Amino acid sequence: MTVRVRFAPSPTGSLHLGAARTALFNWLFARHHGGTFILRIEDTDKEREVPGAIENIIESLHWLGLDPDEGPGVGGPYGPYVQSQRLARYHDVAEALVASGHAYPCFCSAEQLAAMRERQRAAGLPPGYDRTCRTLSPEERAARLAALAAEGRRPVIRFAMPLSGETTWHDELRGEITVENRTLDDFVLLKSDGYPTYNFAHVVDDHDMRITHVLRAEEFVPSTPKFVQLHSALGWPLPVYVHLPDVLGPDKKKLSKRHGATALLDYREAGYLPEAMVNFLALLGWSLDDHTEVIDCSTLIAYFTLDRLSKAGAIFNPEKLRWLNGVYIRRLSPEELTDRLLPFLERDLPTSVPRPISRERVRQLVPLVQERLATLADAADLLVYFFLPSVEVHLPDLLVKGVPAETLQRGLLRAAEELAALPVFTEAQVLAALDRVVAELGLKRGQLFMPIRVAVTGRTQTPELDRTLVALGQEVAVARLRAAAAQLAAVASVADGAT
Ligand code: GLU
Repeated sequence: MTVRVRFAPSPTGSLHLGAARTALFNWLFARHHGGTFILRIEDTDKEREVPGAIENIIESLHWLGLDPDEGPGVGGPYGPYVQSQRLARYHDVAEALVASGHAYPCFCSAEQLAAMRERQRAAGLPPGYDRTCRTLSPEERAARLAALAAEGRRPVIRFAMPLSGETTWHDELRGEITVENRTLDDFVLLKSDGYPTYNFAHVVDDHDMRITHVLRAEEFVPSTPKFVQLHSALGWPLPVYVHLPDVLGPDKKKLSKRHGATALLDYREAGYLPEAMVNFLALLGWSLDDHTEVIDCSTLIAYFTLDRLSKAGAIFNPEKLRWLNGVYIRRLSPEELTDRLLPFLERDLPTSVPRPISRERVRQLVPLVQERLATLADAADLLVYFFLPSVEVHLPDLLVKGVPAETLQRGLLRAAEELAALPVFTEAQVLAALDRVVAELGLKRGQLFMPIRVAVTGRTQTPELDRTLVALGQEVAVARLRAAAAQLAAVASVADGAT
């Protein structure tokens, strides 16, 4: 058997993390078995459709590397199958079900249905269609159909659920599930607007598209008996069902907007790498063993079997994602990291920095920050002082407890002189020069290195000082030291005046 799976989102908004996890599991399952992964857009609820959602879904999958293996369109990338383009097929199947007595037209108006629900609520009964139209005589049915048609309208088509007995089905993860048929509703197959419901369309599609395994969200477990009955009415074999565990927020409630960013592409904008995201999503309900966290995509494919799925809800941990992202950033070659950082620096560096940002310059700076980045978006802040013509120095940051401002000022000036005199501006030379000044002024290294760091970057935390100075370049480093010394001169003279 060739494995064929589908990811079948409804275009009701941006693709969120939970849905991305479902897509990934289907894709990994297909890859593991050398099967086929397709994308199907379930756009039969026109009221809930959000413009741009389909594009967002396609782009999100593409970002993760989960392009479909098959679909409309010649060559790659393959487009999605789209339910709204298959309406005729759903009508044909519905007609066949009506003809075989497994479905029937329903003429109840929205008002009648609302009144019925009200009566059920008042009587403490479970909601569900009361089957009024199921028992219409053939004559009455024909007369009502004719009357509707005369108004250019169509009836709703409902499935005629068996009234007794049980439905049993096997979920690959959850085992055998049995429900009594009397608890199942005569659910709608076709709506009066001519669109099928999800309940109906996806069964037809899974059959037509020869889907072998359905890996989808846990929330569909309760409706699955209906789908099982529909398959049996149509004489179609069931696919293997696998209802995946929910993705939960840190508060153990189902992941939602409450928990912050849930749209997948927001993570792209925030500087996450798709390979880190794939690793992270894969561990939401699946595991290799009880401890391995960093698992690259080819290993995931090699080991992605259903027996490694877990039934319990998977908790989304944003700190773990951030940590994993740092791991993947450190695994990139400097050239690759440079290419990935460039668009973020273009976007995030202040407008006063001339564009385009030089790739060569970024490539030089990458080794200074590769260890420190948790996301690509961290780079602009960590590197900004390398790009600005000058830095703003917060005077108190230049001061060192127990060292007179005058000594510090002298230290900065002497450092500037020593650095300016260097014939080659290497880390070793720079460090030796600074150590000469430290010794000359009888200071400890830290007492001079901190004000120098602040002077040349405006920051108290930077990569190693010698590397930072070399990366800034001799001229810039010297100029910034002199500017900070001038700032200190003012304090130094006030202090002198006071003594
Ligand atoms: N269209 C459904 C959804 O958006 C898909 C459910 C399924 O995979 O069958 O959740």
